[in-house]
Amino acid sequence: MERTGDASVLHLEEHALPPLAADEVLIEHKAIGVNYIDLYHRKGLYPLPLPSGLGLEAAGVVVEAGSAVSTLPVGARVGYNAAGVGAYASHRVVKAARVVSLPDTLDFTRAAACLLRGMTVEYLVCRTYPVQRDERVLLTAAAGGVGLLATQWLKKLGAFVIGCVGSEAKAAIARRNGCDEVILYRSENIAERVRAITDGEGVSVVYDSVGAATFDASLDSLKTRGTMVSFGNASGAIERFDLALLSQKGSLFITRPSLLSYVASREDLTLSAQRLFAMLAEGLTVEVADTLPLQDTGEAHRRLEARETSGALVLLP
Ligand code: NDP
Repeated sequence: MERTGDASVLHLEEHALPPLAADEVLIEHKAIGVNYIDLYHRKGLYPLPLPSGLGLEAAGVVVEAGSAVSTLPVGARVGYNAAGVGAYASHRVVKAARVVSLPDTLDFTRAAACLLRGMTVEYLVCRTYPVQRDERVLLTAAAGGVGLLATQWLKKLGAFVIGCVGSEAKAAIARRNGCDEVILYRSENIAERVRAITDGEGVSVVYDSVGAATFDASLDSLKTRGTMVSFGNASGAIERFDLALLSQKGSLFITRPSLLSYVASREDLTLSAQRLFAMLAEGLTVEVADTLPLQDTGEAHRRLEARETSGALVLLP
């Protein structure tokens, strides 16, 4: 894209690949994940230097390895989720240290659907706020890409999951996926429902990715000394925040985490990947909403933005 804006700013271009450095690999992409953050980048909410490529997540095969790369031979099945923007491409040169090997049982499409979202769920429920058995959790966009994985992971931890969704159809999906209670947040009052479900107590933690539209209600759904994890802004950014609210509402905790800082080191990246792959081996299912050819990226963005999807959209180069 040369400028920010709606999906029409996206177009395909041919570029020569940069020369391969000793610590890099050239990957032929087989599948590319479309993530909500790609919309923030496209719209300029998270500014990028322009012109820019787009996309953070892809899976494919190593077709060339730099001279210092010993662990990723040509032919290795790999993926990445935090190697800078530019994943919407047929081929890409990335640092080998940013790449993880895929388990044989994980096909490219599912890998591109879960490397970014699944590792996000890992850090949110295991490291940002380590959820304990029987704790009550509120989750927004519970039928979305992150939401479906988060619900399953939370259930495996033994949590009681209250999921917010935008339609009856998504409510059915969220329930089938394991949500104990579902709130239709376009028509129901979130905090009132949460108080009713939890006998007035509130939840231990809220994972809120919707942002502006749900922020206040999420805070009001917490129990005393509960934790607010604000990790996205699908409805718009939270403009400003009065710290005193945390004390008024019961000594609350708040954090605004991002995947990039939880997988910044090689150690954290591999830890997160191992935990995700272990969960997949235990039966975590990855929902692919649809696959589209790379040239239909604009249509993929339109569907995600219009709240039409449940699960992840994947582009095929
Ligand atoms: P989703 O598949 O969850 O799609 C976003 C969903 O948000 C929609 O389907 C919709 O579900 C809900 N939503 C609520 N309000 C709006 C609105 N006004 N416009 C559009 N959607 C709305 O996307 P992803 O799985 O890719 O990402 C989920 C969230 O997690 C995003 O906010 C993303 O930014 C965040 N995220 C944060 C990360 C981090 O490290 N901080 C990493 C990865 C993702 P419904 O109709 O049910 O309300």
